[in-house]
Amino acid sequence: MAERFLDIPVDPVDSEGALAAVRLAVGGQRRPLLVIAINPEKVMKAQRDAELRDFIEQAGLRIADGVGIVLASRLRGGAVRSRVTGVDLMLLLIEEAAAQGWRIYLLGAREEVNEAAAAELQRRYPQLVIAGRRDGYFAPEQGEEVAAAIARVNADILFVALGSPAQERFLLAWGDRTGTKVRMGVGGSFDVLAGRVPRAPAPMRRAGLEWLYRLYREPWRLRRMLVLPVFLVRTYLHRPDRARA
Ligand code: UDP
Repeated sequence: MAERFLDIPVDPVDSEGALAAVRLAVGGQRRPLLVIAINPEKVMKAQRDAELRDFIEQAGLRIADGVGIVLASRLRGGAVRSRVTGVDLMLLLIEEAAAQGWRIYLLGAREEVNEAAAAELQRRYPQLVIAGRRDGYFAPEQGEEVAAAIARVNADILFVALGSPAQERFLLAWGDRTGTKVRMGVGGSFDVLAGRVPRAPAPMRRAGLEWLYRLYREPWRLRRMLVLPVFLVRTYLHRPDRARA
């Protein structure tokens, strides 16, 4: 059962649990799966954005991206125990795709970034089948055509890196048309893969301090990160048990 943060659901799964859900969807034992990574910023944004809320409600798997959600859950004795970041889950799915022969599609980012991300994945996983890829700079009217092209190459897993809210809009409107079994919005992950945005050193990542590294690299993120304390206080005060009382 999902745990709600300011009424936004997050599924208490670790990366193994997330992978298990994806296996069922790719195997056809459950309906196509929409995956979204939820962080405090998204929870706060969803408070005033009905479209985003709708998208989150429709997603079959909502992973806890970042320490904020885990911390909030701990503070109130909730069930979300581990963080599964979007980039980590994407890499885990790609590793599994390479091992199982699942076909992936990479949609989004600038053409050179998309191409470099695909090349990097192919270098890391020589057996990986990249069924197709294309950049993310197309007009909304081209959505159906883009989705039809994805359907033609029989991709199993679709990674969409168009940024928000474009990737959510594309997936809501055309996700089914792509014929894919698993669909996941991955934001700026292709830029990370292409080496355009370095990730934090491993020890920092393990300590849950990736946000600190990003702040150091991109100080303008401070404004966005300031939602964290607000989020923690509000979720603590708005515990579901209190809401029922
Ligand atoms: N992007 C795209 N098409 C667009 C606008 C953006 O493919 O029309 C890509 C952009 O190149 C980047 C990715 O979307 O690779 C994510 O951008 P950003 O990190 O700004 O999005 P966020 O996840 O923070 O919303």
